[in-house]
Parts: sequence; structure tokens; C-alpha cells
Amino acid sequence: MKQLYINGSWHDGANVTVTHSPSDLSEVVGEYASAGNEQVELAITAARDAAEGWRNSGVQQRADALDKIGTEINERKAELGSLLAREEGKTLPEAIGEVGRAAAIFKFFAQEALRIRGDKLASVRPGVDVDVTREPVGVVGIIAPWNFPIAIPAWKAAPALAYGNTVILKPAELVPGCSWAMAEIISRSGLPAGVFNLLSGPGRIVGEALSKDSRVDAISFTGSVGTGSRVLAACAARRAKVQLEMGGKNPLVILADADLDVAVNAAIQGSYFSTGQRCTASSRLIVEEKIYPAFVAAMIDKLKSLKVGHALQAGIDIGPVVDKSQLDQDLRYIQIAKDEGAKLAFGGERLSRDTDGYFLNPALFVDCDPAMQHTREEIFGPVASVIPAKNYEHALQLANDTEFGLTAGICTTSLKYATHFKRHARAGMVMVNLPTAGVDYHVPFGGSKASSYGAREQGSAAVEFFTTMKTSYTGS
Ligand code: NAD
Repeated sequence: MKQLYINGSWHDGANVTVTHSPSDLSEVVGEYASAGNEQVELAITAARDAAEGWRNSGVQQRADALDKIGTEINERKAELGSLLAREEGKTLPEAIGEVGRAAAIFKFFAQEALRIRGDKLASVRPGVDVDVTREPVGVVGIIAPWNFPIAIPAWKAAPALAYGNTVILKPAELVPGCSWAMAEIISRSGLPAGVFNLLSGPGRIVGEALSKDSRVDAISFTGSVGTGSRVLAACAARRAKVQLEMGGKNPLVILADADLDVAVNAAIQGSYFSTGQRCTASSRLIVEEKIYPAFVAAMIDKLKSLKVGHALQAGIDIGPVVDKSQLDQDLRYIQIAKDEGAKLAFGGERLSRDTDGYFLNPALFVDCDPAMQHTREEIFGPVASVIPAKNYEHALQLANDTEFGLTAGICTTSLKYATHFKRHARAGMVMVNLPTAGVDYHVPFGGSKASSYGAREQGSAAVEFFTTMKTSYTGS
């Protein structure tokens, strides 16, 4: 059994979680300790006790540790990618790509640790100096979802550590293995005891305790809107710093002047790769009437060529759905879409393969009305809805007609429409002639409206959340 990592050593939990591969339910991926209240208390105490020392650590020490972690993750990309594919169900190339991204993030923040900047301002009072500096927040609780089992823990833990915070990482229950592997690498990186702690366990116990405990200075959360709202309420009640990255119902607009191949590739990748289990997935395909029949026909052709199967099998395009409850949710929304009159143009049924896994044929609904429930709520599976638009203005209005605002995409060859869309799409990230999913690791990430709350993640923007600002006045 793989244990919890608390205060520089390995600990049993209150329970044990056994994970199974969604590609093959007979395959046990691992057995992991699951924390109870006792381990939560140990970890919070350890992170609190280590905070003062780590806050005063030299940036070279932080940079060296993060660089070492990034190097080892990168060297073990194939092995960790295989673990990720077995645990979460991404195809092996996608999984190896995600591990590579985690490695690059650690290396990026190793450098960022050396670039913590301040500001010197002129005072209105002669003889007085004003300095603005950045300081660590303190103890950071990280609550992560299952769909990026190593990249999301990495993109929260790396900046937290780089800017001098101690960390308690709570991975999602479905994917403790990737965080455990990352913690094991971190445990050998030279960080002092208590600076990084791994607390796998249930959201209702570990996540809630971290959100409510006044010794945890900040919570960085990624997950669903429902859970995020609970975390926000708990943090607000004690005025703790919080950032939330949540759901999406991302539009991809296809204009009549789009290059059809570019548009179909963007829609297929954005809607179905990673089994559609991405907050940035393109779930609403908003298509101008003139290109509508050609686009739908090309989508169906392309869908016919996609291979769904075991995540480790060579040549597979789409792996399994992560678990039974997500599969049930996908099938429930497919039924809702049929019941509300959307036309199923492709897929939507459970598939059987050589192994017993949660395989779902990607679904394409056409002739959808923007008022339909399945076009408004996040499904989080390989299901896309095509909505016809009369012209660009109508398409933009449909794109923005959602409570979410994570990503929005447009496929067009017109500079005028691309520029207008970049300005007027109500989303935190806008893509032109690209899938709505697929972002760089070193630039700011985040959304607007119900998708995000608080400071942006990643890139140079991460300094906002993981530091606090101090203004100092010095008289002569
Ligand atoms: P989830 O909300 O069910 O769980 C997220 C995390 O919160 C898990 O670690 C869970 O254990 C924990 N948790 C559960 N109850 C809690 C509580 N009461 N208090 C504190 N923590 C609690 O989400 P999920 O199913 O793991 O992930 C899928 C969701 O994540 C989707 O909605 C997706 O859009 C979103 N997501 C968003 C982004 C983004 O950057 N915007 C990225 C990836 C995933």
C-alpha cells in the first residue's frame, strides 16, 4: 500500500483506496492510504510549523529543488504516463504528454523563483522611500480534480513552493496514484520536512477540513462548480484567500469562410480527445448555416475513423470514460438530448471491447436548440452539440449565451471576425483556428463568469495568488 506523505515521512491513513483501470475493471492500479481526521491534523500542523522556515529560504534552494523534481518527472515520463493512462484512462500519448507538461511546469517555476520582483516608488514625501515586495501567503491547501491527475497538482504545487509557501496536496479520490508518484519524487528533492505534504482522501473529510481550517492560509481548487461553491463559502467564512477553476460549456464557432479541415480537426480534438473530459472541451459547435451541411458530413466521416479502446492500446484515439458514475452521467445527458428533440447524428452508445471498461462511442448531436438542457449544462464526456447560426453576429451571441466563460473558439479565415471575436467573446481564453482545449504551460490560464473565481493560474500570473503584497515606507 502507498502511504501518505506528512512532515517528511510516510504514514498510514484511516482507510485504504483501491483503484481500478477504467480500461479494464479487473486490473488493480494501486492501493493507497486515505486520510482521516488524524492525518489531516498531522499534515496541517506540519505545514504550519514548516511555513516560517520555508518562507525565509533562499530562492536558489527553491529553484534547485523544483528543477530536480522536473528533471526526474521528465526522465520517468514513459513510466508515469503509463500509470496515468491506466489510472485515468487518457490514451498513452496524451498521458505521456501530460506528464511532460508537469515536468515543464516544475522547471518553469524553478526559474520563476529566481524572478520574484518588487517595485520601488517615489514618495510624495521628500526623504521617504516606498518599496512594494511580494511575500509568501503561508500554508496552501491544494484540492485537485481527477481529469488532469498530474498536470493540475503540478501547476498548483510548483508555484506555491517557488514563492515560499508550504503545501498540502489533496488529489481526487479516483486518481491518487499520480499524486503519490509526484510526492515520492518531491520527497527526494531536498525540501525540508513539512514543506510538501500529500493527503489523499475523501473530499468530504480532507477537502472540507482544509477549506475550513484557519491554519490553512489559502486554497487553490479545481473541480466542479458545486464543490467550488462549497469551498468558496468555507473560505469566505474565515476570509481565507481562495482561487477556483471550475466547469465550462465552451463554444467553438465555425464560420462559412472557415477552412473545413481546420474546423473539423479543431472540433474533433476539442470535443472528443481526452474522452471529452476537459474543462476546456468544445461542447457547443456553433456553425454558420452556409457551411453547416458540409461541416456535419465531415464530422461524421471523421468520427467513423476514430478508434475507441483500452488506453494503453496502440493507435487508440479515445480512451474510456473515467468511472461508472461519469459514464452514467454521459448516458443520462445523451438520453436527455434525445428526449428534448436533438438529432443524434453519430455514436452515443456504450461499446464493448476485449476488456471490461467504460467505453463510450463519441456522440454528435445536430440541429440543437440553444435552449436545450444538454447544450447548457456541462456533461464532461465525449458529447458535442451542433447549433446552427444565421451569421457571425448570431454565432457570437450564441457563444456568449452561457453561464460559463472558460474558453471560446472561432474558425474563420477572416481577420475582421477573428479580431472581433477575440475582443467580444466572454471567456478567459480565446482560440482562433484551434481547438478550445489545449493550452501552453507557461502562460496565464483561467476563465470568467461561473468558470473561475479569484486570481489566474499558471505562467507569470501565478505570483498573484501565491504571494501577498507588502508596501514598506522608509524615512531617512
Ligand atoms: P469535484 O468537484 O467532484 O472534485 C474536485 C475535488 O474536490 C476533489 O479532490 C474532491 O475530492 C474535492 N471535494 C469534494 N467535495 C469536497 C468538499 N465538500 N470540500 C472540499 N473539497 C471537496 O470535481 P471532479 O469531478 O474531480 O472534476 C471535474 C470537474 O472539474 C469538472 O466540472 C471540470 O470542468 C472541472 N475542471 C475545471 C478545470 C479548470 O481549470 N477550469 C480543470 C479541470 C477540471
